[in-house]
Order: sequence, then C-alpha cells, then structure tokens
Amino acid sequence: MVRVSPRSRVAGWPAAVPVVLVFLVALAALALTALGACAPTGPGPEGGGGPAPATDLPVTRLTPLGEDDGYLGEGEGVSPFTEDLPLLTRMDPELLKAVRAAATEARTAGVDVVVTSGWRSERYQQFLLDAAVTVYADEEEAARWVATPQASSHVSGEAVDIGRTDAADWMGRYGAAHGLCQTYANEMWHFELAVEPGGTCPAPRADASAG
Ligand SMILES: [Zn+2]
Repeated sequence: MVRVSPRSRVAGWPAAVPVVLVFLVALAALALTALGACAPTGPGPEGGGGPAPATDLPVTRLTPLGEDDGYLGEGEGVSPFTEDLPLLTRMDPELLKAVRAAATEARTAGVDVVVTSGWRSERYQQFLLDAAVTVYADEEEAARWVATPQASSHVSGEAVDIGRTDAADWMGRYGAAHGLCQTYANEMWHFELAVEPGGTCPAPRADASAG
C-alpha cells in the first residue's frame, strides 16, 4: 500500500477514508472519459483521454496530457490539413500524405474527413491502456482495444483514427486507393498504410491483441 502523507488527504474527510479510494474514483472517472469516445459513432475513437481533473489529489499532480502528447480533447477531431499539430506532424509523412489525399477525394463525395487521433506519446498510450484496464477490469479485454506503448502503431506514427462514422466508412471502402486499410476488425476508424495504392487491403486482424 502506498503511504500517503497527511497533507494529501482531502480536507475535512475523516483520516480513516483511504486516499486510495479517492484515487480509484478519480481514475475511474478519467477512464470513463477516455473510453466514452470509443464507440465508432463517437468523434474521438479509442482514445479521447482527458487531462487530469482540477483537484489536488496526488494522481492529478502529473503534467496533464497536451498537444505535445498528440492529445486531442475529448470529442474533438481536426482537419488532416491542420498545420503544426504534433499528432499530425509526428505521423509518418507518407501516412499523412495519404490521409490528406484521401480526404481531398472524400470531400468531392461530400464526406468530411477528420482525424481524431494520430501520433501519440508513450505516456498518452499508457494512459489509455491504464484507463482501459480500469474500465474492463480485465487486462486481456483491455488489450483487445488498446495496445501497449511498445506495440502501438499510434506511438510509432503509423496509424490514424478517422472520424466521423461516415468518413470512417468511406475510408474503409475507398482508402485502399491511397494505401489506407482498416487493420483491426473491431476498429472501423483505425487505418494504416498496409497496401500499395490501388491494391487490395489484407484482411484485418481481429483486434489490437492479435499478433
Ligand atoms: Zn487507432
């Protein structure tokens, strides 16, 4: 058990209230915030995440996630043509080029492509993984949805999440013309360069835990 100094207790609470309980509640809230954006219909697929809430609990003394982590506020998406945003600029340049080309083509079909997640820092990915483990209360299930920082293609800059649902659907149908393929069967929003432009995408892996 982590020893907690008296001053980190919540003022006015009985000393018997374990700070760890408060920590867990805060973590659960963070986790729900992060995974609330998980559904394909949501604007922030598989990774919203959120900066720590404004309390003075020990867990929130960590530096909040920010643009330099590739973090985008919950529910937000950006145009793939946005300049100077790390989640885009730290992406594999070929991937970004392909996404922009596909987005331009999608526009002519009346579909607006937004990027809901791109490059991520290791600590952002770890945050998402921790949140998933908390929500699913099962590491194996969490691993189906969120890769480790070591394995994540978002951390290596080789993956992009596309929103919103109509755009992800469009990308699934026509992205291969630009080399973009949905690589996990359970994530319709997640694309990687996986084929030569104009080729046929390989069958997606079942999920992020599949080798
Ligand atoms: Zn993804």
